[in-house]
Amino acid sequence: MSGQSPSIVLSYDAAAALVLREAKRALSGLPARREMERVPLAAAAGRVLAAPVVADRDQPPFARATRDGFACRVADLAKGRLRVVGQLRAGEAWTQGAIKPGEAVEIMTGAAAPAGADCVVMVEHVTAAEGHVGLAGTRELAPGENIVAAGAEARAGAIVVPAGRRVSVTEIGAAAACGDAELTVFARPRVAILATGDELVEVTETPGAHQIRNSNSYSLAAQARAAGGDPEILPIVQDDGGATERAIREAWDCDLVLLTGGVSMGKFDFVERALLALGADFFFTGARIQPGRPVVFGKLATAYFFGLPGNPVSTMVTFALFAAPLLRALGGESECGPRFGMARLEEEVRVKAGLTRFLPAWVEGDVRGARVRRIAWQGSGDLAAAAKANGFLVVPETAELLTAGEIVTVLEI
Ligand code: AMP
Ligand code: MG
Repeated sequence: MSGQSPSIVLSYDAAAALVLREAKRALSGLPARREMERVPLAAAAGRVLAAPVVADRDQPPFARATRDGFACRVADLAKGRLRVVGQLRAGEAWTQGAIKPGEAVEIMTGAAAPAGADCVVMVEHVTAAEGHVGLAGTRELAPGENIVAAGAEARAGAIVVPAGRRVSVTEIGAAAACGDAELTVFARPRVAILATGDELVEVTETPGAHQIRNSNSYSLAAQARAAGGDPEILPIVQDDGGATERAIREAWDCDLVLLTGGVSMGKFDFVERALLALGADFFFTGARIQPGRPVVFGKLATAYFFGLPGNPVSTMVTFALFAAPLLRALGGESECGPRFGMARLEEEVRVKAGLTRFLPAWVEGDVRGARVRRIAWQGSGDLAAAAKANGFLVVPETAELLTAGEIVTVLEI
């Protein structure tokens, strides 16, 4: 990609595909490039596995009863009542050899089925009296019922969770079951956050009448952390070519640089010019989306950068669409794409075609599925509306009308 002509405006799809291409490239460079570390299992949520979780023994390690009841042979049950020859609790071993024809062992959930038994008949499904049990009613059992065979879930040595997976609830449970008190994870990619704008003051300062608090650095740091990064908020940069160049140069010792503001066509928008002067390659300099049209993506030496539009809702949306996938990939996460869901639209939405739109929305649901409705907003500067939203309703580039009741896509933020 040439650094000479920074005017590349793409459709959402094309821009997303380009980010994905770079994300794949970053992933294929792993793990050579990224450092790894060992973390205690209890502190591993949100980290990305650099080594798989492997079953250290068969799972289950023995033929496990999944119900309280009586372990026996299906064929015997059909013939009549069975003699109860013992009791097995979870954690106990059966030491009396294989059960013989006509015998049953009372068994608790989680106990190892005795040899010779091919089913567990549930305690609710038998009548028991005088040391014998029999099937109640006309129920039929199949061999294997209520027993999970040893190794049926995972064989010793099998990969239970692959490298590249973000550690969450299920991965933690699976790792604990495999005896991993610590996990090997990728080091978090370092993310530099640079807000630009003469009008900006820090959140700790009292703004003048025409000044604006820098909110983007904080929302971006939160998004970067959620996407697996280790963010550092750098001082605000004034709208000045030299200052912007100096700040960018100093920020470059990291994996990803996020700039906000200064990417529009205004006289005092210096970000693109500064990047160009420093020799950056631009993958795109705009996308046909709303909000976030002036979004810029490129690479300078070994670090990627995004120039995100300064309007706070644009910043959030463009991060979620483009920066989050790349950052996840830099952190080694193989499922790195943006997070979309489906929901039923509550009220119709009319827009002008030509841009893929991401409109603040409220999504809620129950077992029948999610529903979504728009949140009224004053445009991409409206943080108060964004704060009332929990997602963004996606309107495809060609659509002019989404009808009530239609199933639509929602971007998770
Ligand atoms: P820009 O992209 O620099 O043209 O900025 C567009 C709008 O976003 C302006 O109204 C800015 O005041 C606002 N803005 C830019 N940067 C930030 C920031 N870091 N925090 C909050 N608002 C910002
Ligand atoms: Mg600005």
